[in-house]
Amino acid sequence: MTDKEPPGDPDEELKSQLQSLLQNANVHFMRGPSQAPAPEGGDEEQGEEERKAEEAIRRIREFNLKPREVRDYLDRYVIKQAEAKKVLSVSICDHYNHVRQCMENPRRREKQYNKPNILLMGPTGVGKTYLMRCVAKLIGVPFVKADATKFSETGYVGYDVEDIVRDLVKMADGNTELAQYGIIYVDEIDKIAAQATEGTKDVSGRGVQVNLLKLMEETEVNLFSQTDLIGQMQAMMDIQKGKQHERMINTRHMLFIVSGAFTSLSDLVKKRIEASPIGFKAEEREKPQYDSEYLKLTETRDFINFGFEPEFIGRLPVRVACDQLEKEDLEEILIRSEDSILHQYEDEFDGYGIDFTATREALGEIAERAYKERTGARGLMTVMEKIFRDFKFELPSTSITSFEITSDAMQDTRRALMELLLKHKDAQRDVLRSEVTAFADRFEQNHSLKLVFDESAIEALVEISLETDKTIRAICEERFKDFEFGLKLIAENTGRTEFTLTRSTVEDPQKNLSQRVVESYPEKKTAKDTKAGGEA
Ligand code: ADP
Repeated sequence: MTDKEPPGDPDEELKSQLQSLLQNANVHFMRGPSQAPAPEGGDEEQGEEERKAEEAIRRIREFNLKPREVRDYLDRYVIKQAEAKKVLSVSICDHYNHVRQCMENPRRREKQYNKPNILLMGPTGVGKTYLMRCVAKLIGVPFVKADATKFSETGYVGYDVEDIVRDLVKMADGNTELAQYGIIYVDEIDKIAAQATEGTKDVSGRGVQVNLLKLMEETEVNLFSQTDLIGQMQAMMDIQKGKQHERMINTRHMLFIVSGAFTSLSDLVKKRIEASPIGFKAEEREKPQYDSEYLKLTETRDFINFGFEPEFIGRLPVRVACDQLEKEDLEEILIRSEDSILHQYEDEFDGYGIDFTATREALGEIAERAYKERTGARGLMTVMEKIFRDFKFELPSTSITSFEITSDAMQDTRRALMELLLKHKDAQRDVLRSEVTAFADRFEQNHSLKLVFDESAIEALVEISLETDKTIRAICEERFKDFEFGLKLIAENTGRTEFTLTRSTVEDPQKNLSQRVVESYPEKKTAKDTKAGGEA
């Protein structure tokens, strides 16, 4: 600082620096239900968020669903997984009935309560996460998902298990009252136990289990992580401004779901059963078709042998193994699931005014290909993306308003697309012509200058578009990029605001424009002279 500069107020300076830092970091505010009014601006948005949260809390307070109703709701979206749906429906109803009872009568909290935290097993893409997302939507509670492999024991490196609770608060738009009834989903839980079975006892995996255990039982989580400097500064500033801040959130009413593929656990169970002298005969069961089905026969000791802490697995009383999805199930998902990827494609094509349908055989073929991917229903997305990639790119710029995918077309999608485009070739010229008019309309709207493309100019643009595979919009924007400036000049010189464009304008726009500009100057002079003469 030089002598001449007045000494600034260090407090104010620090405050303004913090403020700009926080603004840049796009900090999410954590708000409690009884909090001070929102900061300036964003009042409306915040009011809307609060209304939504209040409505969600009211729904929890009035929770009265029956397990069968939850199951029926899940049936609309999730195909198969009957056992998982049944088990989940019961757990969800028990849990949210308990939550409602605690809201009605706070003394209920003093009673012993064993939370029905859930362990979901099964291969990838069979609907484990989807089931829980659907449940959260039905109940209207916030939902977060994280991978157990991201957690570190200390939280100094990587993600701290408590961060997931803080994420839940963010999902509830900062409303801690609503967040405390949310659902936390931790995937890949098998990965934090697996290493322990391989001889090298993995201390950090055990540490994460212990930390998760605390959350699953009941603990107070500080909303501002020790490593979240920005969050802490935000809180300090808010407190200075006299705002109330919820600092802690209790995990007592949060429901925890942990899940994983547990591939090596199914091997372990298989070995145990096969080694037993009575094996399958004793239980009069059929030998499972898939290894993953051995997960249905898992016992607590298997989990412990697998590397879970007994206390940890003990806090997961509800365990269920999901089914593999067969080809027929994948087809069923396409046709019947309300949110299916097929409906998503229909909506996406509809966004361009295209009516998209698929024949039953085509759907069968998609399911067959997806099944071979071995990624459950995720395979459907991969397969459909590949099949429809070119259609989604080309069709929106054509005159085509409906198209049906057949199993025949799927054998060579490029050929099928070319045939479709060829069939609409004539109509395609009309689409391109209308795009020329659309460009002229936009130009007039933006610059108050009217472009009149004569027939030769339109034909030239259509030919260029077909030859170069570029849109009329891109061609015009590139060729006529200087026209706004040039034509404005002419308009000033001559008073004209309407210009006819011919084939030669399209073919050599720069030359044509300069010529027009040059020619406009004598006109300007004439106009001036006439004016001067008139005045004289
Ligand atoms: P995971 O079992 O690995 O958690 P997901 O639930 O994330 O698999 O499934 C991925 C997507 O596949 C879901 O979002 C959903 O669209 C679809 N899906 C998976 N399983 C089913 C199912 N059983 N019924 C309907 N859709 C499903």
